[in-house]
Amino acid sequence: MDTTHANLRMAELLFPHITKTPKDYEALYPQRDLPQGAMVTRIAPSPTGFMHFGNLYGALIDERLAHQSGGVFYLRIENTDAKREVEGAVDVILTSLNAFGLNFDEGATNGEDRGIYGPYRQRDRAELYQTIAKDLVLRGLAYPCFCTEEDLQALHEKQEAEGANFGYYGKWAAHANITVEEAEKYISEGKPYVVRFRSPGKEENRIKYKDLAKGEIEMPENCTDIVILKSDGIPTYHFAHVVDDHFMRTTHVVRGEEWLSTFPYHLQMFEVLGWEKPAYIHTAHMLKQDGTSKRKLSERKDPEARLTYYLQEGYPAPAVIEYLMTVLNSNFEEWRNKNPEADLNEFRFKAEKMGVAGAVFDIEKLNDISKNIISRMTGEEVYEATERWAKEYNPEFHRLLTRNPEYSKAILSIGRGGKKPRKDFTVWSDVPHYMAFFFEETFETDYPFPETMSKGDIVRVLKEYPEAYYDTDDDQQTWFGKVKELTDAMGYAVDMKAYKADPAAFPGSVADISAVLRVAVTGRTASPDTYAVMNILGKDTVLARLKKAAEALETKD
Ligand code: GLU
Repeated sequence: MDTTHANLRMAELLFPHITKTPKDYEALYPQRDLPQGAMVTRIAPSPTGFMHFGNLYGALIDERLAHQSGGVFYLRIENTDAKREVEGAVDVILTSLNAFGLNFDEGATNGEDRGIYGPYRQRDRAELYQTIAKDLVLRGLAYPCFCTEEDLQALHEKQEAEGANFGYYGKWAAHANITVEEAEKYISEGKPYVVRFRSPGKEENRIKYKDLAKGEIEMPENCTDIVILKSDGIPTYHFAHVVDDHFMRTTHVVRGEEWLSTFPYHLQMFEVLGWEKPAYIHTAHMLKQDGTSKRKLSERKDPEARLTYYLQEGYPAPAVIEYLMTVLNSNFEEWRNKNPEADLNEFRFKAEKMGVAGAVFDIEKLNDISKNIISRMTGEEVYEATERWAKEYNPEFHRLLTRNPEYSKAILSIGRGGKKPRKDFTVWSDVPHYMAFFFEETFETDYPFPETMSKGDIVRVLKEYPEAYYDTDDDQQTWFGKVKELTDAMGYAVDMKAYKADPAAFPGSVADISAVLRVAVTGRTASPDTYAVMNILGKDTVLARLKKAAEALETKD
């Protein structure tokens, strides 16, 4: 029997239900009609319900490349491993990426798929993979392998004993020349099998490919007959990657550097299938400084490895994106310094400017960026963003925040808009504490008054100030002038220089008198400007708080 006939019989034996041909799929998924240079990128996460910070890192590269070039950024769900799939995982992917302003043009959604290159969930594409596998069998480029776990274990031991390279290849590939009759017999006995790719590679050959981030990569050519379809007819990552990125017409594959070791499989399959290879960008892992050494940012050990961490803490999305840009492109910071106000989208991201080695995750830097971004926002913007965050992550505070939006906005506007804005917030979860004393429900009355002052003097401030000095019509200067008047009346130092030169000459200074007022109205030693706070709290509340503080002190022994 000639081989063509044998291959035909084998193909029909393994895939009797497959009637389509690769040509049908070429027609079904036409070349994309995009302008010259437009890039088609994707993220292809497994639906584990968990998004790693690295997913955002990769997604940002994909998104920038696609959208900067007028291309397409799409989402493919790699659910070939049914055991790892969790309910609602697509939602987690979409929500977390949307929260950072990354939007897909095409692909899986939490409803129907969007786009003509779908379905975008791999398990729904089984027929396509099997069609390509069938074609490979037909051409003698793939074959069924009935080896059991034990067979493979025995092979491994034999190779170890002989000092040979591990794997299913060459003379070790026991089923590479299996006949149709043998296969028929095994199948009729109900034996499970996988389909393997017949590698044309040679152990001594080396291949080269230019990775857009890492530069030229040289590796040994693949010579193992890797599994392309598992025993349930579902593809391995390697086969699905090649088939999907070909038929979805991906131009640039951005993925973690853990795929470099199997990169030769992928290049060889593109070659054998006669398909144009995409460009590749293998990204280095984010590292974490752990004592004196560095390690990969770990889902298990590091809360900041999870994307949800940034949402829960309430980092403004632009801060996280901006931070990632500094990590991704070495020239970003220089650009930012020259264009402090420019929209991030005006920066031209280039894969070639990516670092080759893994960057160390620097939360201090992220915090700094975040503080600066928030400091440039208006009170209104801070309110809106905090409101969105609190609704999701702190409902109790949300109730207080939104009870009187104008009141909250006034609080959040303190110290904003000037040349040197306040940098009170790193994340939105800092806001509840900052605002706590503005609400009776969360106002704390431990009263940390200056310890150097006598109880009598403190009570005197609390009583005399409202009686003789407090006037809501005063501007800031007059307000402070009156605090000084009271200071003077009590024999405390008004002139800080004089006080510092000879502290023993005074019972205290204007700083102590101010502190008493601050502690009484805010319950704290540190707060925004007391004058501004009093204005926002309003006369009734200020008077009530001064009274309450005096009473608290008087009843304390
Ligand atoms: N499902 C793969 C992963 O999560 C995708 C890798 C790729 O982008 O090709 O690592």
